Amino acid sequence: MPDSDCPVIVWFRDDLRLADHPALCEASATGRKILCVYILDEKSKGIRPLGGAARWWLHGALAALRRQLKAKGGALLTFEGEAPEIFDQLVRQTKADSVFCHHRYQKPEREQDDIIAARLKERHVTLFRAHGTLLRAPDAVMTKSGTPFRVFGAYWKAACALGDVPAPRRVPSHLSFYDPAPLTSLPQLDEAKLLPTKPDWAEGLRQNWEPGAEEGEELLQDFVAHALHRYDRGRNEMAADGSSRLSPYLRFGHVSPRQVWAAASKVPGADTGVFLSEIGWREFAWYTLYHQPELTSRNLKSRFDVLEWRRSTADLQAWQQGRTGIPIVDAGMRQLWQTGWMHNRARMIIGSFLVKHLLLDWKQGEAWFWDTLVDADPANNAMNWQWVAGTGIEATPFFRIFNPLLQAEKFDPHGDYVRRWVPELARLSDKAICAPWNETEETLRQAKVKLGGNYPKPIIDLQQGRERALAAFRKTKSSEAAELEA
Ligand SMILES: Cc1cc2nc3c(=O)[nH]c(=O)nc-3n(C[C@H](O)[C@H](O)[C@H](O)COP(=O)(O)OP(=O)(O)OC[C@H]3O[C@@H](n4cnc5c(N)ncnc54)[C@H](O)[C@@H]3O)c2cc1C
Repeated sequence: MPDSDCPVIVWFRDDLRLADHPALCEASATGRKILCVYILDEKSKGIRPLGGAARWWLHGALAALRRQLKAKGGALLTFEGEAPEIFDQLVRQTKADSVFCHHRYQKPEREQDDIIAARLKERHVTLFRAHGTLLRAPDAVMTKSGTPFRVFGAYWKAACALGDVPAPRRVPSHLSFYDPAPLTSLPQLDEAKLLPTKPDWAEGLRQNWEPGAEEGEELLQDFVAHALHRYDRGRNEMAADGSSRLSPYLRFGHVSPRQVWAAASKVPGADTGVFLSEIGWREFAWYTLYHQPELTSRNLKSRFDVLEWRRSTADLQAWQQGRTGIPIVDAGMRQLWQTGWMHNRARMIIGSFLVKHLLLDWKQGEAWFWDTLVDADPANNAMNWQWVAGTGIEATPFFRIFNPLLQAEKFDPHGDYVRRWVPELARLSDKAICAPWNETEETLRQAKVKLGGNYPKPIIDLQQGRERALAAFRKTKSSEAAELEA
């Protein structure tokens, strides 16, 4: 019989909220006192350390969760170190007999959870894992022959055919908490170290974001009430805030996909369907990562393994710093640097520019996003980079190369997005701002633009970059043909 004075543990991971938290609901159903913990584990094998912007977000996210728990009489303990070791000590000191958490779907995390479950079992402690971070468990949606889907359309149709998405669960009405005071001997997380100091580059992040479940819920309700009805068009207008901006809140689990689904489904119309299918893309990214763990590190289409990427630190840095001389690309990269987030259309444009025009490996782009995005998400990031590069499943064919100038004309027709993020070009006309190098000296002088002075000359001729990419791509085809003949 369990000792009713002993607590149960709720292990928060990428689910930093109290509402729609199945693990917390199950823990509260035991009627026992709950000990809430978060562990930053960047030491265990295969676990990728968070990037800088995500660490900044995590700092605010933990503070917000702590506030939510405090309002209910609880507390949050945060530790740093190898999770299996920390659990050994936690259960020894508290005599807890169960740990509740949500499934994680990345291979190293899954393997770690299995190790922890086995170690806890030796001590007669159970690790309960519920599904709480996706709409559907990744092994619940399979083809008739039992294999995973490789194409989004078929996957999404099958996922939707499983029936209604269950309603989100409420915060348990009765929560009682274990006094964590005696546990200070464990390796505490120094949360202040999550913040950048020398230099403190986070001012733009502070101005644009407020991590936390309450803020996420407010943003969700605001989006559903005011922007969802024109999402299909609005999400592509680069200068407008037509998308939900929920990505970091979903990434850290301040809002669950079921909460988003429930809130959006109430609004009838085609835009809702388009928006929900974007939530579907998030599901599909995690589904793909679950079934093909190499998504983050290798081309899913192995034929591209022979592609000869260029190496150019100068080009990579120009791209990272938003100084390529292609205004729409620079605008996207500067929005990212200043705010920790980038418009989806811009992500596609700058991604295509990196891997095709500059012919630099998509993994370099993925790594930069990982470090600079507040929504940096292992599955969404890698799947989208492979999609942009044409190396993944459901990928755009490699030979389809976004023309940044046409993209700018279509999705930033008045140049407002560029004006906002590349202010040195702000005085140029709507037409001139997407390709200033086509303008006369006099026009540039009047607009106070000096190419190679206050704004760079293009680091590449777009037509030549396109042809170079196509030639590199054709070589992968001939190596495939040679392989087949051999
Ligand atoms: C190269 C590249 C890298 C990307 N890296 C990330 C990343 O690290 N993290 C991330 O969350 N998204 C990533 N995306 C997808 C997408 O750009 C963002 O999810 C979206 O811009 C976030 O803005 P939003 O919340 O306003 O999206 P909305 O348009 O309002 O969509 C709602 C939610 O749906 C999901 N979603 C939307 N589009 C996609 C998509 N293409 N793939 C997967 N999920 C999607 C997100 O969770 C998003 O918050 C990437 C896209 C590209 C092209």
